[in-house]
Parts: sequence; structure tokens; C-alpha cells
Amino acid sequence: MSVPTRNWARNQRCIPTAVHQPSSTDEVVQIVKTAAAAGERVKVIASGHSFTDTAMTDGHLLSLDRMDRVVGVGGPDGFDVRVQAGIRLHVLNEQLAQRGLALPNLGDIDRQSIAGATSTATHGTGAALGNIATRIVGLQLVAADGTVHVADEEHDPELLRVARVSLGALGVITELTLRCVPAFNLRAVETIEPLVDVIGDFRNLMHETDHVEFYWMPGARRCQVKRNTRTDLPAEPQSRAAYIKDKWIGENLAFGAVCRVGRRFPSLAPKVAKLVMSAASERDLIDRSDKVFCSPRKVRFLEMEYGVPLDAVPDAIGRIQSLVSTLPVKPMFPIEVRASAPDDIPLSTGFGRASGWIAVHQYVGVPYESYFQGVESIMNDYGGRPHWGKLHFQTAATLAHRYPEWDTFQTWRAKLDPSGTFANAYLDRVLGPVRS
Ligand SMILES: Cc1cc2nc3c(=O)[nH]c(=O)nc-3n(C[C@H](O)[C@H](O)[C@H](O)COP(=O)(O)OP(=O)(O)OC[C@H]3O[C@@H](n4cnc5c(N)ncnc54)[C@H](O)[C@@H]3O)c2cc1C
Repeated sequence: MSVPTRNWARNQRCIPTAVHQPSSTDEVVQIVKTAAAAGERVKVIASGHSFTDTAMTDGHLLSLDRMDRVVGVGGPDGFDVRVQAGIRLHVLNEQLAQRGLALPNLGDIDRQSIAGATSTATHGTGAALGNIATRIVGLQLVAADGTVHVADEEHDPELLRVARVSLGALGVITELTLRCVPAFNLRAVETIEPLVDVIGDFRNLMHETDHVEFYWMPGARRCQVKRNTRTDLPAEPQSRAAYIKDKWIGENLAFGAVCRVGRRFPSLAPKVAKLVMSAASERDLIDRSDKVFCSPRKVRFLEMEYGVPLDAVPDAIGRIQSLVSTLPVKPMFPIEVRASAPDDIPLSTGFGRASGWIAVHQYVGVPYESYFQGVESIMNDYGGRPHWGKLHFQTAATLAHRYPEWDTFQTWRAKLDPSGTFANAYLDRVLGPVRS
């Protein structure tokens, strides 16, 4: 197993002084203690699926790929699953299914590690459901002095509350306990609908079904709406052939091919965008929840995603439409819109508010800066919070007032990592220096 030194999108890379693959919490403690004593920095990289440089370092780079086991199952209802922090979501989902359990919500992919996903507040869609980190009911964390902190609802609940979303700034998480739910199937219905209807009834749309999202190409009058509803009916998945046609050929191979044409001939980008949207198909199937939530993503892209108050989404979409009409290079990827419930995690992008999520993408190698910067300045007007793992141009100075419990987090950071052992260039930018 090699430790990645660049991310999935290949827009971030680093040259660490040393790489480590510990297989136990004790080994993590030794690595952290030795590095801290030498005044050197430490960072964990999980599956490198962040678009930002959040997992990059010129110090010691740790991979917890060897710490990837389910440790035990317990809790009041037998739904609490303790796992080592390096377990990948697709492995975890399979292990949960074997035990008749599942996570209630997931994002688009399952390649991340559980600690990597939760550390940046990775979310799916569902107006009544928080991000994945909200399912954490216990954790084990190695602080900069090598102390192993164990936090759960009874012991150190405040550390638990804060450390669920920490960008790796508080220490190395070695174990997590997740409150799961009984395994369930989802009925997935995908339709093409007029944007004006979707936006006109946005709040209801987001609340009427367990999980709703829509994809819209700026300029298009119609969009693709995906509604996933919990069902007790047995699975009726697509045939293998239909899955390969939709997910591998349609969403990856063919999509990648037309994006390459658009990158080579930018004037064709609007035509490419139309083609991509016209290829979106309608589907209706029932399958195991994680198989519905997650899809393969082989076409590499860059992404920025903002959380804004749910009711701001229709207005923001209208403004993005106007922005895109002025851009010299048009996006070839649709905008993705989702929703999530409020939570109480100080650094969570969902802290204290029902969020609407607006994600913009651009194919790798195509200029994205003016598009993303333009969208970001629109999001600023709604107090938008950028996804910590996706591209943005904010700094600690512009972010602090968007997080009512910013100081709570910074106090814990100063306590657990007073010398900035877990800092890197990204944390220097978005969190600033550790407070003395
Ligand atoms: C194709 C694609 C699809 C995506 N879909 C979604 C989506 O649907 N929803 C969504 O919200 N996001 C999505 N993302 C973003 C992604 O979920 C996040 O960026 C996530 O953090 C990546 O997880 P990772 O395991 O790759 O972690 P990395 O990117 O490797 O690391 C993320 C952060 O976690 C820290 N970290 C990792 N492990 C530990 C640990 N054990 N202790 C302390 N710190 C740790 C790292 O240091 C870093 O700061 C997507 C990304 C891609 C590339």
C-alpha cells in the first residue's frame, strides 16, 4: 500500500519529509510525539478526495489505511458501530449491511475513509438529516502531546461535540463510533422537470421526499431531479447491463469523452453542456441504500460547494444563471443542489441552520477560477459556508463570523495542539495560527 501524495483531482500535491502507515493507536502516539518534540508537523491523508490542500503537508504524512477494521457493535439498541478511523466508506457500508445496519445518509461516492469524510463535514442530501459527522457518538483522538483522548456522550461530551468536524486540526482520530440505523432500501426516481417548477416550489420539494437533489446546467430550462424514498419493498435493482450503460458509459466514459472535446475546443462548451443535459435519463428502481446513494466517479473535475440558508437557494440560482451568461468559458458540468438539516458541531458547515447546497464543477484542465470566484461572491451575500474539502478562496478572517462557535473550536485547538503540530498551509489560511 503506497501513501498518496496527491489528491484525486490531481490539483494538489505535496512532498512530505516522511510517510508513515501506523497499524495501531500506540504507533500513532509515537509518531506524533517524535514529530512534535522535533518541532515538525503531522497530517493525515485518507483517500485524498478533497479538492483543497487540506490533507497536504511538507512534514510527516500519515495514512491510516492499515487501521481499517470494525472494532465492535454495541450501544443502547445495538446500532453503535465502533470502527478504526481509516476504514473506507465502501468497506464500511458492506460490513454494516452484513450486520443488518446502514448509515442513514451518504454523499455521492464511497471512496473516502470515515475520518476523512467526517473531518470535512461530508454530507448527502435530505432536509431532515445532518451530515455524516452527526452520526458520531464516540471518538478516540491523539493530541499533539501524545495523549489519547476518548470522548463519548458520557465522557467528555464537549470534546465529542467539537471534534466531529475538525479538519485534522485537533489531532489524529484513530477510532470513531457511529450511530447507525437498521438497513433499508431506497426507491430512486429520476425525472426531467422544468427548472421554474423546481425552483418555484423549492422548500416543499426538498421536504416532500427523504432525499432530493437536482442537477441543472446553467442556461437550460429543464433539470434532472433525483428523489430517493425509503421503502420496505424488496430491491429491484437495474440489470447489470443497464447499470453499466447508465453509470459507467453514460456518466463516466461518454461524459468524459465529450468533456475532452469541450476542453480542446472551448467554443463548443455550450454545445457540450446541452449534450450532457440531454443525455440525462429517467430511472425508477429500488436498491440497498448505499448502492443508491453512491456512484462511481471516473471523470476528474474540480468542485466548489457552498452551504447557504435553504430559502436562499432559488435566488442564488437565478444569480448564477446571470453570472454564467457573462463568463468567457462556459461550464460543462451541471450544478448540483442538495439540502441538509442543522447540527450543533462548531465547525460544521451545517451549524445551526437548515442548509441548501450549491455545488459548481469544471472539468480538469479547463479554466475554473472566474466561474468559481463569481459564484463565491454570490454565496458571500447569503453568509455562505464553503465545503471544507472543496475549492474556495476564503480565509480565517472571512470565515470566522460565519461560524457562531468559531471561538469554541479555536479554544479546543489551542488546548490540544498548542504548537500547531497538526497545522498545514490550508489550516494556516482557513483557521489562522493557533491562539496563544
Ligand atoms: C468525486 C468526489 C465526490 C464527492 N462527493 C461528495 C459528496 O457527495 N458530499 C460531500 O460533502 N463531499 C463530497 N466530496 C468531498 C469529500 O467527501 C471530502 O473532501 C472528504 O473529506 C474526502 O475524504 P478523504 O477520505 O479523501 O479525506 P482526505 O481528503 O484525504 O482528508 C480530508 C481531511 O481529513 C483529515 N483526516 C483524514 N483522516 C483523519 C484522521 N484519522 N484524523 C484526523 N484528520 C483526518 C485530513 O487531514 C484532511 O484534513 C467528494 C469528493 C470527490 C473527489
